[in-house]
Amino acid sequence: MEIIKINIDNQQVQVPKGTTILKAAEIAGIEIPNLCFHKRLNPNSVCRVCVVEVKGESSLVSSCSYTIEKELTIYTDNERVKTARKLVLELIMSTHPNDCLLCENNGSCKLQDYAYQYEVEVFKFTRERPKYNIDKSNPFIIRDYNKCILCGRCVSICHQEQCSDIINYTHRGFDTKVSTYFDRGLEESSCAFCGQCVSVCPTGALSEKVAKGKARSWELKKVNTICPYCGCGCSIDLNVKDNQVIKVTSPENESINNGNLCVKGRFGFDFINHPERLKSPLLKDKNGNFKEISWHEAITTIASKLREIKDNYGSNAIAGLSSAKCTNEENYVFQKFMRAAIGTNNIDHCARL
Ligand code: SF4
Ligand code: SF4
Ligand code: SF4
Repeated sequence: MEIIKINIDNQQVQVPKGTTILKAAEIAGIEIPNLCFHKRLNPNSVCRVCVVEVKGESSLVSSCSYTIEKELTIYTDNERVKTARKLVLELIMSTHPNDCLLCENNGSCKLQDYAYQYEVEVFKFTRERPKYNIDKSNPFIIRDYNKCILCGRCVSICHQEQCSDIINYTHRGFDTKVSTYFDRGLEESSCAFCGQCVSVCPTGALSEKVAKGKARSWELKKVNTICPYCGCGCSIDLNVKDNQVIKVTSPENESINNGNLCVKGRFGFDFINHPERLKSPLLKDKNGNFKEISWHEAITTIASKLREIKDNYGSNAIAGLSSAKCTNEENYVFQKFMRAAIGTNNIDHCARL
């Protein structure tokens, strides 16, 4: 691997040939602002917020896609760069509703952060702002394209990670909008409601319906855990306020799922505080009615029934079906119990096929 020396903001850094300037800056501990870039996706180079100056280049370049092929001198934060970035942000804000007070993204919005950092004049360019209807028609995702900055992250993740191609840019020029085929609701498309698009949206254009109005971003405490649904063991963050799970997100790190989740992992957590959630074992009486019993009574009843069947009909009259929701260790113990205690190999697992 060829190593190239670069000078970035007067720091000498060595990077492998082909590294992007954005990545090289990260190695040097320099943060370059960006909106459309996402480390899980191929660079789009559409927002132009990450522009930097490369000595010898006539125009500023997008650091997310400009690869280092030879020795370079780079300025990531000089006056020329800062002026260009501010202008780009002001152009983005020219069609933005600036609705931070009521926005679900308030406090965790990159656009809001950069607008503040670069002291943008929000109303410098006056253009008619879009007036799209807010789409709340599906059960999981609120789509408010008035806040969309057309960064394309949602389109890219639906295509590159989810391999679904449910959404894409439609129309042209000022009318450009991210949409489904024929601008229908997500529920009328083949959308899997994985919520990946929500997870990468840098603004409040896409948000989780279940969390609407329940917590400001700074009130949420993230509790990392493992998804309870299947045996993949995806890493999830429970976003908790007042001991209630408000929404589920996923950390982008070296975990098995790298921030990706399915619909169950991301949205299927309403059972946690559901009023109908079973909190103690139920025993059905002869009339078919359930009554609550203690765990001790439940285990004693199951043990005596299993013994009765085994004594009367033999071990192979009993079969055990275990669950992908259990850990490997729990599944191991279960099969051991069936084989050693019950005495049968009639054991199967819902995820076997
Ligand atoms: S998306 Fe960001 S900048 Fe836009 S209204 Fe919401 S918090 Fe404010
Ligand atoms: S929820 Fe998933 S499948 Fe549906 S549009 Fe978003 S990324 Fe694509
Ligand atoms: S909906 Fe969000 S992620 Fe998609 S293009 Fe608009 S701002 Fe970007």
